[in-house]
Amino acid sequence: MSRLDGKTILITGASAGIGKATAIEIAKTGKAKLILAARRVAVLEELKAELESKYEGVKVLPLKLDVSNVGEVESTIASLPEEFANVDVLINNAGLALGLNSVRDLDLQETMTMINTNVVGLIAMTRAVIRIFYKNGGHGDIVNVSSIAAHEAFPAGSVYCCTKAAVSMFTSAVRQETIDTRIRVMEIDPGMVDTEFATVITHGDKAIIDKFYEGFDPLIGQDIGELIVFGITRRETFVLAQATALPSSQS
Ligand code: NDP
Repeated sequence: MSRLDGKTILITGASAGIGKATAIEIAKTGKAKLILAARRVAVLEELKAELESKYEGVKVLPLKLDVSNVGEVESTIASLPEEFANVDVLINNAGLALGLNSVRDLDLQETMTMINTNVVGLIAMTRAVIRIFYKNGGHGDIVNVSSIAAHEAFPAGSVYCCTKAAVSMFTSAVRQETIDTRIRVMEIDPGMVDTEFATVITHGDKAIIDKFYEGFDPLIGQDIGELIVFGITRRETFVLAQATALPSSQS
């Protein structure tokens, strides 16, 4: 018997990297109902087939969702099929780094896309799902995947760091406002993790970023997935408020 048995768990950015690894760790741990959200729904369909065949009792709903589109977030969460409608856990993981550059050379279109994904999308998801938590009596878990970049700046990272600092402060504020409920709000701050993230990054001067990451032996998605599973399986009065996970070579 696992604390995750029967829970409905929604993960954004579940088609790759940390989100996909977290889905796998949850499936290993309990008979959960997983809502896996991302833009590449074909990848999610493959993950559904893999998880449902490997882990008895796990059910998966692939969900095509662009979190940066707040209208889409609202309508998608409002029309979840009945079996998956009572979400217990929201893992806000979708995110990217676009247009890393010196401020004077920022591409404002890429900047807006990054802010809309990392910040506005995460806020819209939280708003939509926390309403479900309140409707069901005021309990549930929210896990926000932020970054050490919320707390430490890096060259060409002014806006990315801003987005993650916003996620961290939003997380603290929501934890404060829900203090009298059974809603737990967690912030996970990874250092470098080997995912698709580095291939999605666009930047003005790649050499700056490469130099920054030189010599790190990155974490893997599973490391963060295990940490998230640890957070959401604690007893009710324990909240993993903030956790930093770094490769030892990055410390
Ligand atoms: P990946 O690029 O491997 O995965 C990112 C995921 O986010 C994909 O599943 C992608 O799916 C999804 N995604 C991106 N944009 C959207 C969108 N608009 N709507 C819905 N889903 C979206 O990166 P990681 O797994 O590394 O990143 C996950 C989180 O971890 C991010 O928030 C990132 O900032 C954070 N992080 C990563 C670190 C690292 O070193 N990798 C370090 C610190 C934090 P799809 O393209 O199918 O939509």
